[in-house]
Parts: sequence; structure tokens; C-alpha cells
Amino acid sequence: MDPRFDLNIRQILHAPAGRNPDQVIVDGSGQARTYRIFHERIARLAALLVGQGLGEGKTIAVMDWDTSRYLECFFAIPMVGATLHTVNIRLAPEQIIFTINHAEDDAILCHEDFLPILLPLLSRVERPVKLILLAEGKPAAVPEGFIGEYETLLAEQPVAFDFPALPEETRATLFYTTGTTGDPKGVSYTHRQLVLHTLALAADLGTVPGKGGLKRDDVYMPITPLFHVHGWGFPYIATFLGLKQVYPGRYDPARLLALIRDHGVTFSHCVPTILAMVIGAPEAAATDLTGWKVLIGGSALSEGLAGQARAHGIDVHAAYGMSETCPFVTHADMVASQTSDDLTLRTATGRPSPLVEVRVVDPDMADVPKDGATTGEIVARAPWLTQGYLKNVSASADLWQGGWLHTGDVGHLSPDGTLRITDRLKDVIKSGGEWVSSLTLENLASTVPGLIEVAAVGVPDSRWGERPVLVAVMEPSDSVGTAIRQKISAAIERGELPKWANPDRICRVAALPRTSVGKIDKKRIRQMLESGEIA
Ligand code: AMP
Repeated sequence: MDPRFDLNIRQILHAPAGRNPDQVIVDGSGQARTYRIFHERIARLAALLVGQGLGEGKTIAVMDWDTSRYLECFFAIPMVGATLHTVNIRLAPEQIIFTINHAEDDAILCHEDFLPILLPLLSRVERPVKLILLAEGKPAAVPEGFIGEYETLLAEQPVAFDFPALPEETRATLFYTTGTTGDPKGVSYTHRQLVLHTLALAADLGTVPGKGGLKRDDVYMPITPLFHVHGWGFPYIATFLGLKQVYPGRYDPARLLALIRDHGVTFSHCVPTILAMVIGAPEAAATDLTGWKVLIGGSALSEGLAGQARAHGIDVHAAYGMSETCPFVTHADMVASQTSDDLTLRTATGRPSPLVEVRVVDPDMADVPKDGATTGEIVARAPWLTQGYLKNVSASADLWQGGWLHTGDVGHLSPDGTLRITDRLKDVIKSGGEWVSSLTLENLASTVPGLIEVAAVGVPDSRWGERPVLVAVMEPSDSVGTAIRQKISAAIERGELPKWANPDRICRVAALPRTSVGKIDKKRIRQMLESGEIA
């Protein structure tokens, strides 16, 4: 026996804290299963997969809502030595088929709701692929060519399975990230990376004093699709800690609020637009959200939204990461925010998690001054950053130029080590050769009453190269636009913004376009401004 001890997702599942046999994992339908049953079902799923020849070295795609069944896949698939491919079900069908072929999937587990997407694509799958149906309740019929339906197949399997010992560098998860151009890029993580990410985050959030952070008496519910960076790694952390978990299925604000109320949910994570949707739902006023801890990532948390969340008693903080970083890099200070109402503490991109190193550098990779003002590109190192894009050597080399992972985000570091993102490289507004921070403009506008959502983008300008424009969902009163202008002018007078940051226009729209993971789609907004769709 090799004395070296390989890190393995199996150890997350069997962590002492997770040995909580009577604790439950609940589905949106209200069905609760104990961890004891959950473990048995993972063994059954493993037996099913291996019996079908879907063990070591295979890639298994899942197309599902956020269900406890998906959580079973998070464990059983990597634990048999296969790769879990979490398919982004919000991509266009052309991109979905691209990812299925690029990942070289050997099997697809597909929820019945996504059959209308998958079935027309099947003739274009380039490899033999085994198909399993994921149904809600009893399925009407199993489509032709499918091996069967998940529950029926699981019921036929034994409740014990002898999982293989795997080298820790075995690939465990794979998903695709869509950039502004080109095909989706495959990002993967090994068992070692996921275990270290889980341990570091559990230590980080678990040592926040008082009620903050993530503790063994918390009740966890994701509101991030599980295909988005494996649910930001939290399903692994929650299972490691043996928490009560609630999987909401398809997102519907009223149902999410009912689940929070009925199951005493205390910890969630989501992108800003989802939090805005939940607290903007009519049912929110009648739901006690006091003490609900929500980590906001994927886009900046504005002071406007943080203030609204605080008004509901929500313990909200920003977190920062990306698909390529597993995803955790930094989060806002959860200790200082317990004794201060200063929203800038909650919205700051924050400080690195344990084992994460962050620098802000100029184009020559030299550190820019840590003065809370000088901006540069954020680069990072950590044991869990993806090593490269699948079958894409040149993009991988660009990602890791100079031995640091290039985030493509622009920000600054304060003397105390607090990071603040000011922009994405691809979203920066360059006017007269100078950068204008789109996030600062959005943050200022976000606190104006009557403003619902806002995006600051650059539009081409013959004289200045680009000029800032605000596109906003807001109440149809001139006073909202006037108040936004006043806020920006005051910031310019205080010297917080250059005078060329004053937007040329503030355009009112009915809704802002979204990306496949629910973020505001600035690329699309720029196109709409250029084509005159937004005027
Ligand atoms: P994704 O790969 O879809 O997770 O997107 C990652 C990108 O989201 C990052 O590179 C940032 O541009 C943005 N992002 C994530 N977290 C934050 C944050 N706290 N503040 C601002 N932008 C963020």
C-alpha cells in the first residue's frame, strides 16, 4: 500500500461532520431524505454507472435543475473515477451540442424538461452515448434509446459499492464557460482541487465568529444553478459539514421564499440579479429573512442592492471568483461587518481565502501600488485554479501567462489588502484614453430611489474613442435620472471620479438582457446601443 494519501471526493462525503445520518436533504417538492439514504443512493448510482460501463475515465453529462439527485451525481460520478460534466442548460442548443461533443460525453442524464432541447440534438452527438431520464414523479414514458429512468434504475441496484482508490489528480468535474467571443471553453477540476477548495472554505467561513460564516447548525440552499462552477463548490462544503440542505429545483421567487421560511434556510449564494428578484417578489414582505446569510458573486454587489437586502435583515456579503478559479478567490469581511453598518465593507471584493494569493499588476506583471486607487489586472494563484482549458493550448497559455492566472478583471488593493474590482478588462470604458470604472458608476446609481437595475457601458465615440452610457430599469420619472446625475456630479466634485466619467446618456429600458447564468449581459447591451435597439 502506497503511504502517500491521495485526496479524494470520497473523503468529503465521509468527513466526520458529514456523518450525520439523521440529518436531511430536502428537495423543492418537499421530499426529505436522510444522509443515511443519501449515502445508499450514491452507492446505487455508482453501481448503476459502473454496470453500464460508465466508470473510470468516462465523462457523464447531467442536465437537471438544482435537485438532490444532482447532488448524488456530484459525488457518485467522480467517486467511480468518471468526470461529471455539468451542462449549462441555459446555453443555446448549438452551444450545448458543441459542449457535449467537445467534452466527449459517454452518457447524458437528462431531466424531462430538457428533452425538447436534447432529443433534436441527439443525431449530432459524435460518440455512442448512454441516456438516462430524470423524471419528477412517475415518468409518462421513457423515450426511445434511453436505458431507463433514474429512480427505477436506482431501485434495482445494491446499497453498497466498493469505490476505487483514485489518484488525486483524476479529473472530477468539467463545465464550459462562455466568453465574449469564440466557442465555449472547457474548465475542469481534479479531486485534489475540490477537496482543498472544500477544506479551505470550510475553515475560512467556519471560523467567522458569532452567527456569521457557515457553521454546522446552518441550513443550506443554493440559488446558483448547479451547472455554474459546480454550484460554486458549496454542495461539497455543505455535505462535508453534514448540513441540512435544501435543493429548490426550478427557481421561482415565491417558492424560494416559501422554502426559506418552511425549512429555516440560513445560508445561500447567488448572483445579484437573483437576490434582487427574490427580495423584489411580493411575498418577500411577508417572509422573515432576518439572519439569512447570502453570498453574492458573479457580478459586483452594489451598495443599492446591499442596502435593500439589509433592510430585510439579510446578512449579505460580496464574494469574488470565476469559472476558472473553482471559484473562490476572495470575500468581503464578515467580521468587521458585524459591528458596522458601512455598506462598503459588505460590497468590497474583500480579502483572499486561505491558500489564495492575489496580486494587482501592470502589463509587465509588476505590482501596482497598494494605495486603494491604482488599478491593474487581478492575477491569482491557489491550489484549486484550473490548470488550463480543455483541448485549448493557446487560451490556456494566455490564462497562465507569467505563472499567475489572469482573471481579466481590473481592480485595486488597499494598504490593508482589501481588493476592489472596478471593471472587467472586456467591459472597461476608455474615454479620451482614460479608464472610467463602470462598476463605480453603477454603484453610485444603485442607491438612487426608483432605480431598479443599471449597467454602465462604453459606446464608440469619434472624438473620445468611447463614452459612458447608463442603461437602467427605473421608475418613469425624470427625477430618477436627475438624482443619478447629481450623485455622479457629487462624486466628481469629491474627486472620486474623473469629470469625463459623467455619462453622455441615461437610457431607460424595460429590462436588461441576461447571460446564461443570470448576470447582466453587457456585450448584448453594447450591441443594442450600437444598433439603435436601445436609444
Ligand atoms: P464566471 O466565470 O461566469 O463565474 O464569471 C466570473 C467573472 O464574474 C469574474 O471574472 C468577474 O468579472 C465577475 N465577478 C465575479 N465576482 C465578482 C464580484 N464580487 N465583483 C465584481 N465582479 C465579479
